[in-house]
Amino acid sequence: MQGQRADADPGVEPGAGSVWGPGTDDRRRAPRTRLQRHLAAPLPSSIELVLVTDLDGTLLEGSVPTRRRVYRWLACQRHRVLQVFSTGRDLRSVARLLSAEAALGLHPPHLVIGDVGCTVACGASLTPLALALEPIEALWRGRAEKVLPLLALVPGLSPQPLSTDRRLAYGIDPLRLDTSRLAAIEAHGVDCLVSGDKYLDVLPPGVNKGSTLLGLLEWLELEPARVVTAGDSLNDLAMFETGLQSVMVGNAEPGLVRALPGLARTYRARAHGCLGILEGLRHFGFGHLLDGLP
Ligand SMILES: [Mg+2]
Repeated sequence: MQGQRADADPGVEPGAGSVWGPGTDDRRRAPRTRLQRHLAAPLPSSIELVLVTDLDGTLLEGSVPTRRRVYRWLACQRHRVLQVFSTGRDLRSVARLLSAEAALGLHPPHLVIGDVGCTVACGASLTPLALALEPIEALWRGRAEKVLPLLALVPGLSPQPLSTDRRLAYGIDPLRLDTSRLAAIEAHGVDCLVSGDKYLDVLPPGVNKGSTLLGLLEWLELEPARVVTAGDSLNDLAMFETGLQSVMVGNAEPGLVRALPGLARTYRARAHGCLGILEGLRHFGFGHLLDGLP
């Protein structure tokens, strides 16, 4: 994550030198205004909270009545809670999910971080934000060609990648995958991430949910104190390691729970899934936003 910032020029505008790069056309505008120009729906005019939630096992975890209630609350708070979905899903999968959950009242978020940090998109249109993707693509260029033949020789991976958008995502058989073999893959300048005993993600170096979120926050020009992240699996660890206020929901995977002692700003909720998010918001002093919880 730090490596991506090594080229930063301290004399230039906010956002430059991050994974997002310096931008091109409208450099004299404030970063948030420039970001807004690429979004189909307005960001909140007065942002009290940036709520960054993983989907599977986190926002999507809960009974149907509970999810309906939480989704209705999110919809009512759009004017003051900037909502970011941060997921391992690719945009096609996010689109299917939004369509399915709409029946329960889930509205599109303002922004989507997809592909475990390798994609950033407008939440309303799901159009990828080129200004975010170009630097990630530059880090990924040529890597897939190098590691695909090596990954084909590793037992316990799905025969073909499940997703190839600036990363390679595989389903895994945890009983057959020898994770010690991943060091040889990482020697080719990629990061390997196993999460949920279900997936292997091969990522551009230094790119993850945490690095991409930090880049996004530079563009939003917001203080870290207004941000809360939430997640349940090891691909959420990078968000928690940013030092932002974070909620590890009650159903978190064991590997993530083992990391808890090293995470200074992470609250371990008792409640599972979407109720764990609300418990965490109360813990971090955002309970007043829940007063109108339907
Ligand atoms: Mg999850």
